[in-house]
Amino acid sequence: MIGEGGYQQSMNTLIKKKFHSIVGDDHFRDRPEDLISYSYDAFTVEAAPDLVLLPVSTTQISEILKLASEHRIPVTARGAGSSICGAPVPIHGGIVLSMTMMNKILETNTADRYCIVEPGVINGDLQVELAKTGFFYPPDPGSMAFSTIGGNLAQNAGGPRCLKYGVTSDYVLGMEVVLASGEVIRFGSRNVKDVTGYRLSGLFCGSEGTLGIVTEITLKVLPQPEAYRTVLAVFNNLDDSAATVSDIIGAGILPAALELLDKVLINVVEDANNIGLPRGAEGLLLIEVDGSEEQVEKELALITGKARNNNAVDIQQARTPAEREALWRARRSLYSCMARLKPNCIVEDATVPASKLPEMIRGIRAIINKYGLLAGISAHAGDGNMHPLISCDMRDQEEMERVDKAIEEIFKLAMACNGTLSGEHGIGIAKRKYLSMSIDEPTLNFMHTLKHAVDPHGILNPGKAI
Ligand SMILES: Cc1cc2nc3c(=O)[nH]c(=O)nc-3n(C[C@H](O)[C@H](O)[C@H](O)COP(=O)(O)OP(=O)(O)OC[C@H]3O[C@@H](n4cnc5c(N)ncnc54)[C@H](O)[C@@H]3O)c2cc1C
Repeated sequence: MIGEGGYQQSMNTLIKKKFHSIVGDDHFRDRPEDLISYSYDAFTVEAAPDLVLLPVSTTQISEILKLASEHRIPVTARGAGSSICGAPVPIHGGIVLSMTMMNKILETNTADRYCIVEPGVINGDLQVELAKTGFFYPPDPGSMAFSTIGGNLAQNAGGPRCLKYGVTSDYVLGMEVVLASGEVIRFGSRNVKDVTGYRLSGLFCGSEGTLGIVTEITLKVLPQPEAYRTVLAVFNNLDDSAATVSDIIGAGILPAALELLDKVLINVVEDANNIGLPRGAEGLLLIEVDGSEEQVEKELALITGKARNNNAVDIQQARTPAEREALWRARRSLYSCMARLKPNCIVEDATVPASKLPEMIRGIRAIINKYGLLAGISAHAGDGNMHPLISCDMRDQEEMERVDKAIEEIFKLAMACNGTLSGEHGIGIAKRKYLSMSIDEPTLNFMHTLKHAVDPHGILNPGKAI
């Protein structure tokens, strides 16, 4: 039966059997307890699919999509389900296509600087493999220990290192994609330079599984830098830490990472990790530079000079690789630390030009105070990517109304600062209602035209991204 939105309302046994025959018993799930496991991500909306399939090949995915198209069944790809915006939540039911079984690193080629992976490869696993060859893949989302390359691509994920090295789309050389019709297309190549035809990889990066299912990815990799220096700069005033960021970037220095934490986060992270963060501080910068020995020493001297000029009260340098790793582990634990305070944690992602960082931080703090929220501010500060983290309780309607108002004001502030809704987490369900703040009507219409051209029945992850 075709229902609201033109989708199949419930899947009859005959159709389920056809899907079963494509993937086999071990890769087919339809028990309620299994379906619930695929009904959520790290945002707050939940919706269970009718069926979960765990394909192992492009051919299987092609057959699944042909059948789904024929019967108008929604198909939502899923990596690790770590999205923060509801992107992999199947709000129209149908099929969740878990990509986790397609998790092979197919090739690493350091001579030609690329690797080829299946979409279910975990980012951190790829990093470990590449490290053995003296190379690395720069995009390093805080979720790198569990998020997949396919999910990273579909969200165009970033991370601390993206300040210097760029985001996922800067590293995608080629792809294999199964379209809604079941047709398989391949574009790009193993060449670092390639301008043959449209640059379709840019279109698929950040498309949140709404244009096709990515089944193979060719990524550019880089040689590891010779040296690192990692420092913590401690401030008694949050404005001073923000001003330091603007000064560093404004002086043309590009650290590998430049992360900011406010007092709330310094304390929750220290509570959980116990690594000696300065509890009394109002602001903290975690700064890393990389390159040759000569370059890192020079950049470190310039950066610490800027921090001191802005009243840094202490500057501590990681003395060993273990100390450096402990600092980054602590940084990556931010969300889980905040999530300990209340049942829910909402992470926002508004992004502004680096010069607007001090204004944005002051504004966000004022909004948080105005609405009486329990929230901390972190930022991939060097690229103006703000991450206010709001601890809240979805069952408390009055509190959630204040959260909603605060988020809307944060987005308005970002727009007033020439910013954007999302730097790296994407739109999903979470930010769709704010899209018109950032994208005008003709441009949004163009995006819908593209979507309709490649997915005329709208079966691929309906209700997301645009
Ligand atoms: C603790 C924590 C820290 C985080 N830190 C960061 C960060 O620093 N930077 C950042 O950018 N994000 C971060 N995130 C958000 C999230 O981890 C990223 O968006 C990540 O890229 C999602 O990957 P995933 O494998 O979990 O994908 P999922 O959440 O499963 O899916 C995300 C989207 O990708 C689509 N998709 C998945 N696989 C495919 C495929 N093969 N083909 C087509 N579409 C596909 C899905 O349909 C969905 O729309 C963080 C999340 C958490 C929980």
